[in-house]
Amino acid sequence: MPAFKWHPAASQQSRHAVKQTIATVAVPVPLRRTFDFKIPPDQALRGPQPCVGARVQVPFGARELIGVIIQLKDHSEYPEHKLKSLIKTLDPEPVFDPLLWSVLQWISRYYIAPIGEVLDTALPQVLRKGNPLAPPVVRSWRLTEHGRSCPIEELERAPLQLAIVKRFMHREVLSPIDFKQGSSGWRQALASLVNKGWIEEQSSVPELKEVADSDPSQVSLNEQQRIVVQKLQPLLRADRFSTSLLHGVTGSGKTEVYFAAMRQVIKHGRQVLMLVPEIGLTPQLLQRVKTQLGCPMVTMHSGLNPGERHLAWWHARQGSAKVVIGTRSAVFAPLQNLGLIVIDEEHDGSFKQQDGVRYQARDVAIYRAKQHDIPIVLGSATPSLESYANARSGRYQYLTLTARATSTDMPEVELLDLNRLPSIDGLSPTMTEAIEATLNDGKQVMLFLNRRGYAPVLYCADCGTTVKCHRCDSHLTLHRSIARMRCHHCGFEGNTNKQCASCNSERLVEVGEGTQRVEEALAQRFPAARLLRIDRDSTRRKGELARLLEQASAGDADILLGTQLLTKGHDFPAVALVGILNADQGLYSTDFRASEVLFQQLVQVSGRAGRRDQVGRVLIQTSFPDDPFFSWVIKHDFNGFAQHLLKQRQACNYPPFGYFALMRADSTHQSRALQFLRHARAAMPCRDDVQIMDPIPAPMERRAGRHRAQLLFSASNRSALHATLVSGLEQLANDALATKLAGSVRWNLDIDPIDHY
Ligand code: ADP
Ligand code: ZN
Ligand code: ZN
Repeated sequence: MPAFKWHPAASQQSRHAVKQTIATVAVPVPLRRTFDFKIPPDQALRGPQPCVGARVQVPFGARELIGVIIQLKDHSEYPEHKLKSLIKTLDPEPVFDPLLWSVLQWISRYYIAPIGEVLDTALPQVLRKGNPLAPPVVRSWRLTEHGRSCPIEELERAPLQLAIVKRFMHREVLSPIDFKQGSSGWRQALASLVNKGWIEEQSSVPELKEVADSDPSQVSLNEQQRIVVQKLQPLLRADRFSTSLLHGVTGSGKTEVYFAAMRQVIKHGRQVLMLVPEIGLTPQLLQRVKTQLGCPMVTMHSGLNPGERHLAWWHARQGSAKVVIGTRSAVFAPLQNLGLIVIDEEHDGSFKQQDGVRYQARDVAIYRAKQHDIPIVLGSATPSLESYANARSGRYQYLTLTARATSTDMPEVELLDLNRLPSIDGLSPTMTEAIEATLNDGKQVMLFLNRRGYAPVLYCADCGTTVKCHRCDSHLTLHRSIARMRCHHCGFEGNTNKQCASCNSERLVEVGEGTQRVEEALAQRFPAARLLRIDRDSTRRKGELARLLEQASAGDADILLGTQLLTKGHDFPAVALVGILNADQGLYSTDFRASEVLFQQLVQVSGRAGRRDQVGRVLIQTSFPDDPFFSWVIKHDFNGFAQHLLKQRQACNYPPFGYFALMRADSTHQSRALQFLRHARAAMPCRDDVQIMDPIPAPMERRAGRHRAQLLFSASNRSALHATLVSGLEQLANDALATKLAGSVRWNLDIDPIDHY
């Protein structure tokens, strides 16, 4: 891949001074290289003068693509007569600021990802399609001085005009949206008012709404919070890079600490970027940010439509948004005046992009903070081992909040041994009694089961056959209420089987339980209780999840039953009992991170219990109550558990001590994915400090009809791993057989993978 550099002067530089006739362009294709194009002579050039960092439209095979200029030069290594010409240039200026540009370069290097795809990932969809940088203008109207001074009676014979002018008594600016419901004659009426000089029309990009002043009833920080903020203070003032880990138990008031830090940075006129997990961006959080910070802000998340996203991007770039709060991809928000980055729930898996450019937003954010020379604060009740190790070793500033802000104690955790008290429909007798007692007390119950559907396995009692997905190596889950069998891996859906496919027996047994089965059992057992099920099936419609969660936290339900969708970011003040129906799935998994993730989930879920003035109770059903894992869970002892895991990881040189990369391949042909990876392995240079395993079939080999395989790399030295991969990939690109195989094999490279499936 040709190196490329930011040329600050390039944008102003006239092309004639150095006679730059060639533009090197990154296009959004999965190739690890860039392409040269001829720049047409001035009179033939469509669009502004080319500059580095600007978008261009280029011919690419039979297609036309939008790419970004990486470099301008006067000579190409390719024969000039073979080069095609730019179709047109789109921007008079670079799209990305220099610091973000260098972050994107780093992503391409670090993740060994095609620069064209990286730049594409960082742009809002609207801009990827070649639309102008500035969002479309909308018309708006204001009352003029003249309009203000004229007696309103003059409009008596024009009732629509009168109605419009009256509206300006409550609102300074009106835009077309404000007339959507009204009569169709408003255009005419507005035009007449403009003609008379009563109102004036403006066309501009929609402005960010000013937020009312901060809420004066701000919480005053408690002693622990004050100490943490005090320790952050010098870092916030310092104007240099620093990383802090705020490790605070659930409900300890981390958010208030972020706000205190953010307020200080905003006061000095700088912008703040706050990243939250996908399901953490709740209306409650936004409301808190709005009232407590009282400054113009934008949100960036997958729920926005392309126009809204573009507008948010624009306000961030213009500096009109002082706070950007968003999920993973908001890490690319264009913020030239960035003064602080905050990452809440930094351990959350949703910060890792799982397809395309597989970046980890937390790590990108840290690099970005370094480029900007600013502080970054990571927060969590259960930090990732990576961050935790860095904090304990002193590389990060380690800040702790050990008590709940509302001075309730941590909930009491008890284990229910499923060997002694087997469960019926997912509920052991003790669990059922506890639910009953809690309901009798008028309190809320929250039950957590990380499996949706009715039953995960349908089993023939006569011949032992189970119902499997024909496209994946997995069972079909029974969804009884809609009488369908669904594959949770490929989305396949079929009718419920009435008979065994191999022996025609009708004795099919539903094995195991999903949320729907537990829901049915609860409804039978507690017919009077208001029951709310929250999982991917019950929240398919847009906005449904937010609605259900709102209903739950308003206390408008007695039993909340859900998957991990239920666990994060929400305050359910009335929950007094939390039941974890099956903790064992994560306990004996092949994935070395499974117990770390399970611990995080258990802590998050337990954190929902007793958040206000009551101590909560947490019951965990397990078949392995003696597993040492639970001794840390019961004591809320994250530190003990983390030390134990770190020791384990160190012994086998797993992350965060060693570094992993995973090459995945899949194909419709059974052996090709493996064959391709064998080639890839052979293409890698051998060195002692990088271990390359043998290619193996993925733990779930077949998925959606494709055979999957993987090749694991590990090393205790990052740069050794990196060098091996870069030179191996180059070799692979020149390997004729691999290229031929690649026609029927899809593959990707995952640096620092978080799941090994
Ligand atoms: P975390 O982010 O650590 O889970 P939050 O910041 O959401 O915790 O705080 C948990 C609850 O405690 C919230 O309802 C919050 O309003 C309240 N809280 C936080 N700090 C204080 C404080 N200093 N005084 C009173 N209540 C507080
Ligand atoms: Zn059978
Ligand atoms: Zn399937």
